[in-house]
Amino acid sequence: MDKEFDIQEYMTRGVERIVADAMRATLKNPRESAYMLRFAAASKAASKKRAAMEKKGEHIPPFLIASITSSCNLHCAGCYSRCNHATTDEAPVAQLSDAEWSRIFDEANDLGVSFILLAGGEPLLRRGVIDAAGERPDILFPVFTNGTFMGDKYFELFDSCRNIVPIMSIEGSKDITDQRRGEGVYDKLISNMDELNKRGLIFGASVTVTTDNFRQVSSEEFIGMLSEKGCKAVVFVEFVPVTDESSELAPGDEEREYLRTEIERLRTEHPEMVFVSFPGDEKSSGGCIAAGRGFFHINSHGEAEPCPFSPYSDTNVRDVSLREAMNSKLFRYLIDEELLSDDHKGGCVLFEKREQVMEIKERLEVSYEYRA
Ligand code: SF4
Repeated sequence: MDKEFDIQEYMTRGVERIVADAMRATLKNPRESAYMLRFAAASKAASKKRAAMEKKGEHIPPFLIASITSSCNLHCAGCYSRCNHATTDEAPVAQLSDAEWSRIFDEANDLGVSFILLAGGEPLLRRGVIDAAGERPDILFPVFTNGTFMGDKYFELFDSCRNIVPIMSIEGSKDITDQRRGEGVYDKLISNMDELNKRGLIFGASVTVTTDNFRQVSSEEFIGMLSEKGCKAVVFVEFVPVTDESSELAPGDEEREYLRTEIERLRTEHPEMVFVSFPGDEKSSGGCIAAGRGFFHINSHGEAEPCPFSPYSDTNVRDVSLREAMNSKLFRYLIDEELLSDDHKGGCVLFEKREQVMEIKERLEVSYEYRA
């Protein structure tokens, strides 16, 4: 890893670009731009907090991914969360309570975390946690939802809490979306978009990019449709094959290069929208940004994991503070031993090296001395 490379500076530039794009995207909407102005100030203050910690030798990521439930009403083909058994049809047990999530949100705010991505399972099933998020306007909460539980109650919440931004999962056209997510889901998403747009509420779309749909989901036809519907952000999530059978769906170098150039084109041709790709361009970020470099993941039971696609953990935020979880032995080892920047074929280094990560976790539990 290039020692000069400054991950904090790189991530803060990323945050500033998203905020600037969001400011531009909401200019015509007074209530949204009023909130964005407030958030821009809060994220600047948060960047200062993180920079001050960096000077003291402690790295704080600007992003956190929080999977707030292990329940979901859908059974999407290839769902990584169901394949990892992080989402099941069993009644949820020992999930973090609304109060525990509120504590984590406050600790994140104190440390300088600016974005907390709420996911699941289906996060709109946890109304109490979403309300708690709404009470913390200094943090922006993109909510990655399948959109099927959206109705008046949630539209009113999004109206009163502008720091909560629904990001609805869609796979491209009606056929592809319903084929993966279930009959009727696409029409529900489109009616949500029309309602959100009518109410002047900001929303986004999350697209799982596969070898099947990478051209369609970056096409003018699809992005133009989303823009017309009032969509202000598109998050391209590269498909990570959590089962060997689905590995042919994972984008390779050619597809990733195509997507990278398309996103650059879209940023120029659609200034009214924000485009983000996950896990993004590891070459420019000095490797994978998981395990606390750019973000980390807390699952619905409180375990701190490098990433939703790397469900291994050696700490639980029920037992330790968020700050201690960020410095877990496993995260330190993955960063110090430069596993995150190892050469790898596919899109996700930690998925590709999952056996190594598991072996490290087991070894750490017996021997690795935690260097404070
Ligand atoms: S909505 Fe999300 S969590 Fe639920 S099955 Fe589909 S991909 Fe999985």
